[in-house]
Amino acid sequence: MTEPALPKLTPKLLAEFNAQPSADASPLRRATLTLDLSALRHNAARAKQAAGGRKIFAAVKADGYGHGAATVAHALRDLVDGFMVASLGEGEALRQAGITQRIMVLQGVMSQTEARRAAKRFLEPVFHHISQIEAVGTVGFGLPLTVWLKVDTGMHRVGFTPQEFPKAYARLSALRGVRPNPSVLTHFARADEPDPAPTQAQIALFWQTTAHCAGELSVCNSAGLLAFPEAGGDWVRPGIMLYGGNPFTTGTAAEFDLRPVMTLTTQLIAIRTVPAGEALGYGGRFTAPQTMPVGVAAIGYGDGYPRHAPDGTPIVVNGQRTQLIGRVSMDLIMLDLRGITASVGDCVECWGAQLPIDEVAHAASTISYELMCQLSGRVARRVIESL
Ligand SMILES: *Cc1c(COP(=O)(O)O)cnc(C)c1O
Repeated sequence: MTEPALPKLTPKLLAEFNAQPSADASPLRRATLTLDLSALRHNAARAKQAAGGRKIFAAVKADGYGHGAATVAHALRDLVDGFMVASLGEGEALRQAGITQRIMVLQGVMSQTEARRAAKRFLEPVFHHISQIEAVGTVGFGLPLTVWLKVDTGMHRVGFTPQEFPKAYARLSALRGVRPNPSVLTHFARADEPDPAPTQAQIALFWQTTAHCAGELSVCNSAGLLAFPEAGGDWVRPGIMLYGGNPFTTGTAAEFDLRPVMTLTTQLIAIRTVPAGEALGYGGRFTAPQTMPVGVAAIGYGDGYPRHAPDGTPIVVNGQRTQLIGRVSMDLIMLDLRGITASVGDCVECWGAQLPIDEVAHAASTISYELMCQLSGRVARRVIESL
């Protein structure tokens, strides 16, 4: 007697299946990023208040610090005066998305082709190295290029030193394709620290170096904007504060009335009882000190949850604060459910509305910026006005 043949997946069967609309309606059973645009606008209003009369370039580099550059730019376009990106490609993407405000491109341009691309889209490149001025050369770009020159007042990463600056300014001003009176910016290395002295020295050096410049001037990032109102300039360049991260190494974002824009959540997919003395997860990093309930949540470093988060990293289950236990794996984390009321399917908040991202960043020995930027494409996204 012959057994009936088991169904076999053929390319034809797969094509039939793929042609049907997906019935999978459980997007929350995975890492989900919720973006609160009203919090974003609130934070921008705070920046505007701190800026006094100065104009604002909102930093939206690295896909708007992981929030989505176009989403952020559209939400802020009536509140700020321009946007700041790292690369030409990021600037072009904002133009593609319909953004017409001014856009500063921090990496600038490295060739005539790139200068032409920038000019055509009204992107404003930063010149920070002599090789850029040499590469752009003496040709025109159709439209005159609005340019920024970066002066290194103490960070020693990019920019012309105060000694090199006058010559670079003169050479850039003399280029045929460039609008007269280049604008000038500098960047703070230590405005986030309690000691104001290094930043005050940078501010003084900036004003000394740019005393004869007729163009626009820009000094402050978020920390500079909030802590050094005397820094001055025509433009400020806040980033992290717009997203509700704490720009400082001490204190909290809430002290500055900044609200979290991103909330990263997932679901509990299992609850188990682990016997006393048993070790959890890869490497057995956490040993149960007593027989205890352990929750398993559907998120891991494959979503951007930091793999280096140690035991004790705060996390919120069903509105109750608890801690991460065991090593973070690619798709899963484990949580201490002792004293917690929870069932499978309950919401787990990794950071956001109920838990400041800065607390998680601190526990994982990093900064909020990195946690925001490293979220992966697997994370589902939804945009709301308010939580
Ligand atoms: C990223 C960046 C900013 C914004 O910094 P925050 O600390 O996020 O406010 C400002 N200026 C420059 C040059 C930057 O690269």
